[in-house]
Amino acid sequence: MSVTDDLYREIILDHFRQQRNRGKLPAPALEIQGVNPLCGDEVTLYLEEKSGQITDVKIQTRGCSISQASASMLTEVIKGKKIEEIEKAAAVFKDMMLKNGTPSNEEILGDLISLEGVKKYPVRIKCALLAWNTLLEGLKAIKEKKPAKPVVME
Ligand code: ZN
Repeated sequence: MSVTDDLYREIILDHFRQQRNRGKLPAPALEIQGVNPLCGDEVTLYLEEKSGQITDVKIQTRGCSISQASASMLTEVIKGKKIEEIEKAAAVFKDMMLKNGTPSNEEILGDLISLEGVKKYPVRIKCALLAWNTLLEGLKAIKEKKPAKPVVME
């Protein structure tokens, strides 16, 4: 185990134990659910949008430490950002999780960088991506002004 692995594990556990932005937002905030049946992870995201910016976000999660930590990190990365910036962060994160090599833009990821080691365990990659795929579906619903469809990881 390297020093970086230890540090990353500490960051993940910190987000798991003390989730950021836990809770609900009242309507008209968008509510969207995601599940990862393989692991039994569940996430509900609440998004408040104003003029193309996500002004507030809350999460409710159940499942493994990776899925819950990833959702917590997501809230810190997206809160107060414009939808286009969030989509860019999501693309960089998905690239990091699904491709080899280091991410093109580490700064945009914040604590999410600590999830890179999850790649060593392919079955857990979906745990890390669950909140992000759910978020992207939510952003799509906001942009198209349609109800959000629940996300199921396959
Ligand atoms: Zn999981």
